[in-house]
Amino acid sequence: RTKGEGRNGYRFYEAEMDERIEARRALSTDLWGALDRNEFLLHFQPIVTKDARIRGFEALVRWKHPKRDFVSPAEFIPLAEETGVIIPLGEWILRQACATAAGWPSDVSVAVNLSPIQFRHSDLPLLVRSALEESGLAPSRLELEITESVFLEATPAIKAALAKLRELGVRLSLDDFGTGYSSLSYLRRLAFDKIKIDQSFVRDLPHEQGSAAIVRAIIDLATSLNMTVVAEGVETEAQRRCLLSLGCHELQGYLFSRPVPAEEAGSLTNRQGLRRWKIHAA
Ligand code: C2E
Ligand code: MG
Ligand code: MG
Ligand code: MG
Repeated sequence: RTKGEGRNGYRFYEAEMDERIEARRALSTDLWGALDRNEFLLHFQPIVTKDARIRGFEALVRWKHPKRDFVSPAEFIPLAEETGVIIPLGEWILRQACATAAGWPSDVSVAVNLSPIQFRHSDLPLLVRSALEESGLAPSRLELEITESVFLEATPAIKAALAKLRELGVRLSLDDFGTGYSSLSYLRRLAFDKIKIDQSFVRDLPHEQGSAAIVRAIIDLATSLNMTVVAEGVETEAQRRCLLSLGCHELQGYLFSRPVPAEEAGSLTNRQGLRRWKIHAA
């Protein structure tokens, strides 16, 4: 009897696995056609200064699946990386983000997330140059967000690509800082302009001593290396105050704004949107 149950349990598990694998397969088939069917769009989330002025926006891709409504990038980006879709998708994201930002005031920048796959399997500096030329966006207004996983294989080719990107005059930003491996030596050698403190450290502020100590250390280190520090995932007023008291330069999170469609981002940059939102954040 016990044996039988065990076998049933196992069979149930197997069926569940098959279903999951099948769902993934279906989603990756859909992913291939999604770009041609215009199912992707960009949302933009404000990154603000200490006094709550919009410094720029982070472009975050959204997939409007015909049958599933919005699929989270946390689900489809890994799939796009496995299938190679990330190469044409990443190109579309970059061009679209630059074209949108070109319509904003000239002191507002745009941050674009890059996948490590794009470093390995495409000529990223060439693509970035072409996206800038095509849109007319000044290179200094484009920030490229890279995670530490890019350096898991810091090959000469990847280092050369980073150097070329710097030569173009775009800014480099280290995303999700503190969650990956190593990093400290890369900070110095690869001359990042910006560090984004991962939201997992911000979440437990201001009361958790450990997180506060880590955030303080990151801010002090980055500041002494002349880098700008951004905190991600700021949701509460208490977190905002704590981060400012620790010397954080810029903030991003639901406290200020969720990621919004392009038209709304445009209107946030105009005076009226800014004022309303400033009062909320003050
Ligand atoms: P990320 O680059 O670290 O982006 C920040 C994520 O945190 C976004 O999730 C954003 O919506 C979310 N977020 C912002 N403020 C808050 C907050 O106050 N609280 C909480 N809980 N979350 C907040 P999203 O848009 O779901 O993206 C998840 C991840 O997917 C991104 O993490 C990034 O790694 C990847 N991703 C998104 N868009 C792109 C893209 O265009 N290209 C690539 N390669 N990856 C992307
Ligand atoms: Mg990011
Ligand atoms: Mg991040
Ligand atoms: Mg993240």
